[in-house]
Amino acid sequence: MSGFVHSPKPIELVAGDGAWLYDADGQAYLDAGASYGCAPIGHAHPAVVAAISDQASSLVFAQASYPTPVRTALFERLASVAPGDCTNAWLCNSGTEANEAALKFARSATGRDRIVAATRGFHGRTMGSLSATWKRSHREPFEPLVPEVTFVPFGDETALAEAVDDETAAVILEPLQGEGGINVPPAGYLAAARTLTEAAGAALILDEIQTGLGRTGTFWACEAEDVVPDILTSAKGLGSGLPIGVTLCRDWIAEGAGPHGSTFSGAPIPVAAALATLDTIQADGLAGAATDRGGALIDALDGIDACAVRGRGLLIGVDVRRGAGAVARSLALDHQVLVMTAGRSVIRLVPPLTVDDRDIEHLAEAVATAVESESGT
Ligand SMILES: *Cc1c(COP(=O)(O)O)cnc(C)c1O
Repeated sequence: MSGFVHSPKPIELVAGDGAWLYDADGQAYLDAGASYGCAPIGHAHPAVVAAISDQASSLVFAQASYPTPVRTALFERLASVAPGDCTNAWLCNSGTEANEAALKFARSATGRDRIVAATRGFHGRTMGSLSATWKRSHREPFEPLVPEVTFVPFGDETALAEAVDDETAAVILEPLQGEGGINVPPAGYLAAARTLTEAAGAALILDEIQTGLGRTGTFWACEAEDVVPDILTSAKGLGSGLPIGVTLCRDWIAEGAGPHGSTFSGAPIPVAAALATLDTIQADGLAGAATDRGGALIDALDGIDACAVRGRGLLIGVDVRRGAGAVARSLALDHQVLVMTAGRSVIRLVPPLTVDDRDIEHLAEAVATAVESESGT
């Protein structure tokens, strides 16, 4: 094979429909990772298919400095779903770019350069976002990275208080960590981060690239704690698989944002896909569905021996207390259930928010069987 792919898998996928993916032989696979979380309303949702094809037949691309009706509509929609007054939107093409803009805007708006990030946090792989990402193996081959980033233990309010001062440009956190193991912080942690950053004149950046769009049971995870950040980033499922990310921010950040740009910012087809995705999440009440189905999934997983289940809504981690990679492989090859891992010992379950009761049952049974057979019982 030429071209390189991160950890290639032995299944070639040719089609998708709802929560299911298909190989060339028509074998079905339950997409319990929603393809990196990029299929919150499932694959080939008719609203997204129609939005993409309608947009393709009218306008595929226009220079970003000219308004287009579809982009104007997305700006309005994002402002209406934004937490509090985090209503200014910068559009880009991926999660890491959304965080890159967040870090740049925080620096220029505060005139400071120090960033505080959390252990086990993940914010992306371009140089700025990578600098705020904790995992050593992601970082080391590319050092030196952007300086002045301090890591504090995630969920530890005291450590955060010690790290934030009047030289801090921003604190960047996931409200609930995905990649780092599905880690839920203690209640009040985000509120403390809000109070501390406000007192220090620093920006609070919440990375909701994995937690947003209804995934954890509220539209944004920060709503569960009544916290409004200065900057919020979203991507992954926003375009139902088309590349789009957004950096939402308050006026003081937008007014202080230095010059920033990207050729494909607000490109019409990803924007149309995002509007259809947001429409569907809202019209179908999928945040509420995430709470209900997530609860059902946690109940169904409850009987598995020697595992710890944690998470919120349909962002669920099953700590299998052994190599999660082998369990994920068995799920794919023996049970036709595709999952991602989150750290060495955690299986990450983030199915489309549209999964039905049968899918949930199927998923829980497959996980139970795979875990038990991998442990040799
Ligand atoms: C996936 C992810 C990113 C990076 O998004 P990309 O689109 O891969 O650049 C950043 N932050 C979080 C929390 C993520 O889950």
